[in-house]
Amino acid sequence: MKQKKKPQRMCISCRSMKNKMDLARLVKAQDGSVAVDATGKKPGRGAYICKDPACAELARKQRKIERCFEVSDAGGAYAELSAAIAAAAGGAATDPAPSAATSAATSPAPSTATSTAADPPQDI
Ligand SMILES: [Zn+2]
Repeated sequence: MKQKKKPQRMCISCRSMKNKMDLARLVKAQDGSVAVDATGKKPGRGAYICKDPACAELARKQRKIERCFEVSDAGGAYAELSAAIAAAAGGAATDPAPSAATSAATSPAPSTATSTAADPPQDI
C-alpha cells in the first residue's frame, strides 16, 4: 500500500505546516478584496490560515492578512474567517445560541472548628 502524501500548507498566522484540509483558504480577488474561499477553487492569489479562533484573532491583531496580500483593509476577510471557523466548529452556523453563562460560584467558607480544650481543674 502506497503512502499518500497529504498536501501541506503554511498558516499565515502561526506559520505552522498543516494539512490543507485543516486550513481555510483566503483569496485575493482581482478587485483587491480578500475573501475566504470555501471551495478552495477560486482564482487569484491564495493564502492559508488555521481554522482556529486563536489563529484568526492573532492574524487580526497583527494584520497578517493585510500584510500577506498587501491590502490596506481586509476586515471583511476576518469576519468571513470567523464565520467559517464557527461553522466548522459548531456545524450549524445558522443557530445563534445566546451565551448566558451564569456561573454562580458558591464558595462555602471553611469552618475552622477551633476546640479549645482547657484542662478542667482536678480536685484531688
Ligand atoms: Zn495557524
